[in-house]
Amino acid sequence: MTWSALADVALAGGTISREDARRILHAPEDELLTLLDAAFRVRRAHWGRRVSLHVLENAKIGACPEDCGFCSQSSKHNAGSSPSGEAPMKTVDELVAGARRAAAARAKRYCMVTATRGPSQRDLDTICEAATRIKAELDIELCASLGLLTDAKAERLVASGVDRFNHNLETSERHYDQIVSTHSWKDRVETIRTAQRAGMDTCAGGIVGLGESEDDLLDLAFSLRELDVDSIPVNFLDAREGTPLAGYPLVQPGFALRALCMFRLVHPRTDLRVAGGREITLRALQAFALYPANSIFTQGYLTTGGATPHADHQMIRDAGFELELASGEGVPAEPEKMIEFAPRPAPTLRKPSLPQVRG
Ligand code: SF4
Repeated sequence: MTWSALADVALAGGTISREDARRILHAPEDELLTLLDAAFRVRRAHWGRRVSLHVLENAKIGACPEDCGFCSQSSKHNAGSSPSGEAPMKTVDELVAGARRAAAARAKRYCMVTATRGPSQRDLDTICEAATRIKAELDIELCASLGLLTDAKAERLVASGVDRFNHNLETSERHYDQIVSTHSWKDRVETIRTAQRAGMDTCAGGIVGLGESEDDLLDLAFSLRELDVDSIPVNFLDAREGTPLAGYPLVQPGFALRALCMFRLVHPRTDLRVAGGREITLRALQAFALYPANSIFTQGYLTTGGATPHADHQMIRDAGFELELASGEGVPAEPEKMIEFAPRPAPTLRKPSLPQVRG
């Protein structure tokens, strides 16, 4: 079956087979543009030429008790975050100010993130108060990523105006315990279901480059389809010093594009985001990712810097795309109005002062 025929299956509401998804990951170099074109036909049918910008806000960074092997915020690794390295929870005013900055960058979504196993009541109070104020003041979609949820906590988030909950699966169920030991893949699935039961949209994706096999990547894509998530961030590992995955190589840019095309053809209607690691992995090929993906993060990530809104507006305009706002309106990207956004430096995790225990 040609790439174009796979797009026809996706556009007709069918599901491409696992073997066709596998073939996408092996698309020959000479067929990469044809593959991108097929993914773009599907993306354009559901999202037009619109790109939505998402902004991440570190509401609480560092000293996380979990041991995710890729994460420099874990207190279990020697990556600069320890119990003494915990940053305090940001204030409601700081979180609201972050949302104003995101809206000024013409972001569609603002996502408040805490490095925690799950939200404490006190952290939840802060997030909920900030959410209520942000929704009263700004036209912006609101997301939260706070770790494992209970039904009661999910319902509080909904009541405060949080639209979408992020909880990534990261990789396949089979590969998960090579990466994390402090909670299970099933725990993560349960939190996604909890958010869905409470009425929130769900955002769940993963990281390419964790040493997974091709089958692990395919399992991730098809598990997310079964879970019927609304949004999929596809990250590419940017290995951090001091974590168990330090030294893992970057994903090849051509493979990153094939992976994005595979996710698009398995998930025709989903909000598909080229997420962390975009700049360092794709480099000069970044704009090609807009053909399968319809959203990006701007202003950097949780523990690494990234492109500025100025650079992202410029890329979107140069590639002939436009921005999608929270209202659903499409508007031109305006790099000249984004000059004041200086690059946001990667946050510094305080150096550990206690002996580190390897997870
Ligand atoms: S990925 Fe999240 S849960 Fe895992 S260690 Fe990092 S901050 Fe904690």
